[in-house]
Amino acid sequence: MSPIHVLPDALINQIAAGEVVERPSSVVKELVENSIDAGARRIEIVLEQGGRKRIEIRDDGCGMSESDALLAIERHATSKIAHFDDLLAVSTLGFRGEALPSIASVSRFTMQTFDGLSESGIEISSDPARGRSVRPIARDRGTTISVLELFENVPARRKFLKSADAEFRAIVSVVSSYALPEPSRAFRLEHNGRVVLDLVPVATRRHRVLQILGNEADGQLEEIDMTIEDCTASGFVTRGLRYGSRRNQYFFVNGRLVKDRVLTHAANRAADAFDFDGHPAVFLFLDIAPETIDVNVHPAKTEVRFRDSGKVHVVVEQGVRRALGGAEEGRGLLRPAEGPARADFPDSEVRNGSSAASPAGSSLFSSVSTNQGVREYVVHEVTPLFQQRAVVQPPVASSPDRLGSLRGRVIGQYRLSYILLDTPDGLRLVDQHVAHERILYDRFARMLEARAPETQRLLTPFLYDAGAAECAILESHLDELRGVGFEIERFSGNTFAVSAIPLAMQRERLETFFGKVIDASLDEKGSHTTRLRERVIASLACQAAIKVHRPLSGEEMSRLVEELLESSNPYACPHGRPIIVDIRHIDIEKHFHRK
Ligand code: ADP
Ligand code: MG
Repeated sequence: MSPIHVLPDALINQIAAGEVVERPSSVVKELVENSIDAGARRIEIVLEQGGRKRIEIRDDGCGMSESDALLAIERHATSKIAHFDDLLAVSTLGFRGEALPSIASVSRFTMQTFDGLSESGIEISSDPARGRSVRPIARDRGTTISVLELFENVPARRKFLKSADAEFRAIVSVVSSYALPEPSRAFRLEHNGRVVLDLVPVATRRHRVLQILGNEADGQLEEIDMTIEDCTASGFVTRGLRYGSRRNQYFFVNGRLVKDRVLTHAANRAADAFDFDGHPAVFLFLDIAPETIDVNVHPAKTEVRFRDSGKVHVVVEQGVRRALGGAEEGRGLLRPAEGPARADFPDSEVRNGSSAASPAGSSLFSSVSTNQGVREYVVHEVTPLFQQRAVVQPPVASSPDRLGSLRGRVIGQYRLSYILLDTPDGLRLVDQHVAHERILYDRFARMLEARAPETQRLLTPFLYDAGAAECAILESHLDELRGVGFEIERFSGNTFAVSAIPLAMQRERLETFFGKVIDASLDEKGSHTTRLRERVIASLACQAAIKVHRPLSGEEMSRLVEELLESSNPYACPHGRPIIVDIRHIDIEKHFHRK
């Protein structure tokens, strides 16, 4: 082993950077926090290539004097705490004094700042290759930090960055999160020369929430207001407006955005007690005595530890329950009490009764009757499957076998949802919805590949009002959407105009479809570009496919099965759900004691 030596500062900073700045969105997070701590009224963020090439943040906050500025990029230099006791009651977002030196150690970094009192402003440039330079400049009060070519000098880290699109979406989410508790501050985000978020100052949090969520949420926000001792939960939760994921759930503790199981669990448990599909939007602000929490759990400061997490759980759960209950109790939508509250917060969330949570295939028949599933099984007036009107007729047991004896013969439709086939091996059930989904998925994949979408024009354009954050995300998918047959343009502000849609798509489903695209996009696991494209067409196929509870003619069933067997994978739908269930003849015979 080599002799022990103390590591040089530059290397220490790079090691710290591994924890504090993992990716462009963490740089944005740290710098936005600094601007908020500096009391800025207006924060502007400019990005190129999802922040991989350039991140610039300008604020009109208090700025720094020359000596402070020079200190600020030294490790563990902070103006925010001075004693250990301060750490127990941190009221600023930053306190570790690590962000600036870490960022500077892994990028070409420039900071311009002026405090309005010194003789002039100062510019400090630091480049891992060329070192540091300082010069006086003239500027208004405030600070501008520019970060170029992040991780250029740490190729191992640069390799792990996601695509520019994925990084960009993560930044949209950081900026909109930080904007939420700060309605009086203006936030503006520009990406590759286009303004993608422009949040002007508004009077109340409710207004800011509506800026982020879009006007569809107007009239849907129920107010949370609950206090137990020194602990207050306030904010909003949506009632009927639900989403396919938890993407619109934000939790803040004393103004700091956190990811926390106790809070997430408490809010969702309360919301799950009401009979709505999907996940509500939650904007929860927990105010709690600073000395009863520990925010210094991790360098990224997104985790907190509560001294009394039981109390926090109760405040949040009751707060959300009361917010929703006030609106719903009179209408009998409240489900019967669910038994005693769980004291142990589970590692995996409990989602009572959700059909999505049941393992694929295990609830083949029961899922049709669960309350949660009702919305999905509503019968829509649909365009016929094969360009002819669907005729409701009794199952055609005697129709000629068009698929050959090996493939089986359609003998009917079970519960208007499953096609029954008599095959040489036994009885086969085909889920009509997922079967059609598979067929459409293959078709859309071919179109996307060939860039030859089949479209239908809409008589009047469909306007999709998305809310600022979702708009920015949808914008990054316009190419894929056009590839499968959408004609879609940013219309004005936060509205998209859709003038043509894929042939198999229905206008009424557009709203849900765009929601699904945004969900798929925000799901980090799926943010790899090709995976994402698959998921966009998977959502499209799912929306366009015939639903269960829809009568099919014998002809339609036969064609569906025929096309299914020619598809790329007749056994599983693009989401991985089974399409075919076989019950072997031999097992049927055993049941009747014939074998
Ligand atoms: P921390 O925020 O944990 O104190 P940072 O490395 O992020 O550590 O910042 C170091 C110091 O630089 C801060 O304590 C603050 O005094 C100063 N600073 C950073 N950014 C700004 C800004 N935008 N405006 C004014 N002062 C800033
Ligand atoms: Mg900071």
